[in-house]
Formats: sequence, structure tokens, C-alpha cells
Amino acid sequence: MAETLCVIALGGNLGDVPATFRRACEALSDAGFRIRRFSSLLRTTPVGCEPGAPEFFNAALSGFWDGTALDLLRICQKIEADNGRPNDHAHHVSRTLDLDIITFGREIIALPDLTVPHPEAARRDFVMVPVREIEPELADWLLEQAKSKTDSGG
Ligand code: ATP
Ligand code: CA
Ligand code: CA
Repeated sequence: MAETLCVIALGGNLGDVPATFRRACEALSDAGFRIRRFSSLLRTTPVGCEPGAPEFFNAALSGFWDGTALDLLRICQKIEADNGRPNDHAHHVSRTLDLDIITFGREIIALPDLTVPHPEAARRDFVMVPVREIEPELADWLLEQAKSKTDSGG
């Protein structure tokens, strides 16, 4: 299968998050994901989390993957679980590690478990700033995609 250039956003606000990010990179590499670039770390105020939630670290990485997008999602979910994130974890609460697939080439994916590009990415500075740092062309493409969705009322 041909290799696809993908962007993954990383987030976390519990534990030693920079160390968790390093372990996540190692685990992605071990799974065959070839990391190309890793952004600077951002410190961000939690959005929609429980009151008093600690600040987040956010970052993005890009790299090449030669499986399907769903394979990559399953690997990201396993790495989250291996790094202390419970399976029954609720949306928008503090977490050790969150890995979101932001782009998968320039594919548009709408599966029950996987929406790509990530539907919230273009609205989130904590995603767009690191993505622009490492893959500016994909950041522009994300904004175009979001705009065409708005223009068509979707
Ligand atoms: P948000 O998606 O708004 O950033 P979240 O990251 O807190 O919220 P999670 O609880 O981590 O949400 O994930 C909920 C579900 O989102 C996952 O079970 C996964 O199947 C699904 N999902 C859909 N699209 C994606 C994507 N592009 N990347 C990662 N997970 C996705
Ligand atoms: Ca997320
Ligand atoms: Ca997620």
C-alpha cells in the first residue's frame, strides 16, 4: 500500500506529559509510523474540561503511514490506553494522552469511528498552530476544507 502523509495532534494534562509524548512517538515508530516532523509544545488552557483542570500540553506530528486510516486510529487508541488513559474515558475531561488523527493525506473519511479531517481542527488554535509549524500546506488545506463545509451549510 502507498504511504500516506498524516498529521496527528497530541494533547494531555495529567502526569509528565512531555515524557508521555516521547513514549507515544516511540510507540508510533514501533508500529511502523515514520515520523517526519514534531512541533513545539504549546501550553493551553483547558477547553470544556472539569473546573480546575490542569493546563494542557498540545503538539502535532506528521509522518508516513502505509496502512489504512482505521489501522492508524486503532494504534493511536492502544497507545492512549498503554499510557494510562481509561477506555471508558469521557469526552473533554483531563487525560494523560489524547491522539487525534487530523489529516490522512487529503482524504475525506466519514466512518462511524473516524472523521477526517478532524471536524474541530480548523476551529482550534491549539491544533492549528502546531500543524502550521510543521506542515503549513496541510494547515491551509484544513482551513479550505472547513470553509467549503461552512459554505455548503454543513
Ligand atoms: P474531540 O474529538 O472533540 O477532540 P476527544 O478527543 O476528547 O474529543 P475522544 O474521547 O478522545 O474525544 O474520542 C472519541 C471518539 O472519537 C473515539 O472513540 C474515535 O472513534 C472518534 N474519532 C472520530 N474521528 C477521530 C479522529 N479523526 N481522530 C481520533 N478519534 C476520532
Ligand atoms: Ca481531541
Ligand atoms: Ca481523541
